[in-house]
Amino acid sequence: LLEVKNIKKSFDDLEVLKDISMSVAESEVISILGPSGSGKSTFLRCMTMLEKIDGGSMEYCGKEAVNSDSGVPVYADRTTLKEIQSYYGLVFQNFNLFPHYSVLKNIADAPIHVQKRDKDEVYAEAKELLRKMNLEDKGDYCPYQLSGGQQQRVAIARALALKPKMLFFDEPTSALDPELTAEILKVLKELAAEKMTMVIVTHEIGFARSVSDRVIFMDGGVIVEEGKPEDVIDNPKTDRAKAFLKKMQ
Ligand code: ATP
Ligand code: MG
Repeated sequence: LLEVKNIKKSFDDLEVLKDISMSVAESEVISILGPSGSGKSTFLRCMTMLEKIDGGSMEYCGKEAVNSDSGVPVYADRTTLKEIQSYYGLVFQNFNLFPHYSVLKNIADAPIHVQKRDKDEVYAEAKELLRKMNLEDKGDYCPYQLSGGQQQRVAIARALALKPKMLFFDEPTSALDPELTAEILKVLKELAAEKMTMVIVTHEIGFARSVSDRVIFMDGGVIVEEGKPEDVIDNPKTDRAKAFLKKMQ
């Protein structure tokens, strides 16, 4: 689904991503672990084109989003980028719901106004998604009337409503209490069981071990280790990964 090659990204003099390559296959669940400041969020933002890269290339479903054949990154035209952006959804730490929209409107708004889909059909699907998230009675609430865990489940439903091929999560549970974290991890496990392709930046090591097909450990803007969870998490090879994992568990 996604092929990222040799991505580089700096902020002024600070080289945040040094030369990162990663591929994501259909139905794969990949967890990205690493210390604070290692570049995980920047990597996710570059992959999802919220941030421009300084070098490297990216392809989604065989469609080129950006290449650096000429030495500098050249992005695809607007139409192609829009098409590519419709392939994935994003869920952040802080939910980013529209505060003045009801829960249902938060979920249904983009499918109706961006994808121009039929309103009745979208609302019916939004209600179904809320049922799936165990929030069927909250459709008419506003975000501030919900707990953090409930808001995050709405954010996941909103991403799913656009029928993406894959989802990116940036620390989806880090703003939540432990019980609410468990709610979200359960939803992610269900999505994994349904074969949703997901890339998840997380500090939840136990979750990463149980749900991921592949774990990536980043440090200092590079991928230091990558492999099956039982290798990277339980038998890390590098001192950097060993030290990080020891601190986390
Ligand atoms: P955390 O686990 O704390 O979320 P992270 O691995 O996600 O950390 P990033 O947010 O990617 O780390 O940040 C990597 C480095 O890039 C940090 O040193 C950060 O200060 C810097 N950085 C990130 N975004 C910007 C920006 N917009 N402008 C300048 N520097 C930035
Ligand atoms: Mg981050």
